Amino acid sequence: MTTLSTSFREEAERLQPELVAMRRELHQFPELSNEEYETTAKIRSWLTEAGIRLLDLDLPTGVLAEVKGAHPGPTIMLRADIDALPVLEETGLPFASTVTGKMHACGHDFHTSSMIGAAKLLQEHVHELHGTVRILFQPAEEQAIGARAVIEAGALEGVSAVFGMHNKPELPVGTVGIRTGPLMASVDRFEINVAGRGGHAGIPEAAIDPVVVSSAMVTALQTLVSRNVSPHHSAVVSVCRLEAGSSWNVIPDKGVLEGTVRTFQPEARESIPGHMKRVVENVAAGYGAEAHLKWTSMLPAVNNDARMAEIMHTAALAQGLKVVEAVPTMGGEDFALYQEQLPGCFIWMGTGGTEQWHHPRFTLNEDAISISAALFAEAAVDALKSIG
Ligand SMILES: [Zn+2]
Ligand SMILES: [Zn+2]
Repeated sequence: MTTLSTSFREEAERLQPELVAMRRELHQFPELSNEEYETTAKIRSWLTEAGIRLLDLDLPTGVLAEVKGAHPGPTIMLRADIDALPVLEETGLPFASTVTGKMHACGHDFHTSSMIGAAKLLQEHVHELHGTVRILFQPAEEQAIGARAVIEAGALEGVSAVFGMHNKPELPVGTVGIRTGPLMASVDRFEINVAGRGGHAGIPEAAIDPVVVSSAMVTALQTLVSRNVSPHHSAVVSVCRLEAGSSWNVIPDKGVLEGTVRTFQPEARESIPGHMKRVVENVAAGYGAEAHLKWTSMLPAVNNDARMAEIMHTAALAQGLKVVEAVPTMGGEDFALYQEQLPGCFIWMGTGGTEQWHHPRFTLNEDAISISAALFAEAAVDALKSIG
């Protein structure tokens, strides 16, 4: 616990009007993954105005900044994501998106303005800091490709721990959700190609019908979780696309299934592709057809380190926030890739909205901006002390 905590909260409240203005500016001009050019320029100029040093991040979009304390110590990282979504905004807010069909419907404008706030607070206390806080504004989270690019660009070099958040509409402002262990699921993708033999709808005996094979496969895949994954583990297999045929009286010659697998435990994640391959190939063989599974590994699970979660927990209590056990979700987050390399903690920040992420009427309570700024500034100071 730092002696700075009270002042962080008060100082963050003083910053609140300008942080809200930044958030609204970002909200009005949303940009999609890897197209965050104006967003990047704005973040750079806001940080520069605050006297915060920018580091080279050799990527077209995204910003890496650094507050280097007056005293030696470790380096930790705070991370925000900056991209928006292809959603047509329906909030009716006075600062609604001015770009038709694009919207900050996941609240990354909130994450960005909050972490700018944290950076400004830390910069104001640079003389008291023992170590360095790197602040990352990551592009392309929604496409799950930004974190990998940031890591390949070397942004994690020398960093000992990483902290981040996602807004949480279900939690009221002033409440944070924290937990040790898995918070968000691993994300993998599969495509199954079924090869049969086309023919006349009235002469099925001369054909191998991929519609029947694909249907049997969807049903058989339901047993992967119930029969092949430990009841103590969590997994979801969703077939989200099933396509075959183009006419009412022609048996097609092929079918395609596509979907995603989500897990919390590495054991479940590692075992499912093998089980899926066996089911898919053997169901097809049972009908005289053939099937090929294409598996694409995308993201590991967001998995919180116990010590880093404790740092967040202590910082939240010091800020007078209510801390609840975070309820995990089977959604994914590429923050997980940082946690593959470093201990880290990803939390839920209560923003008290009525609609879920990605909804056209998604909103959040802006009071959470200064709360987040103060919390992450506090957590950064505490982490430097704890690690150093
Ligand atoms: Zn999202
Ligand atoms: Zn998001």
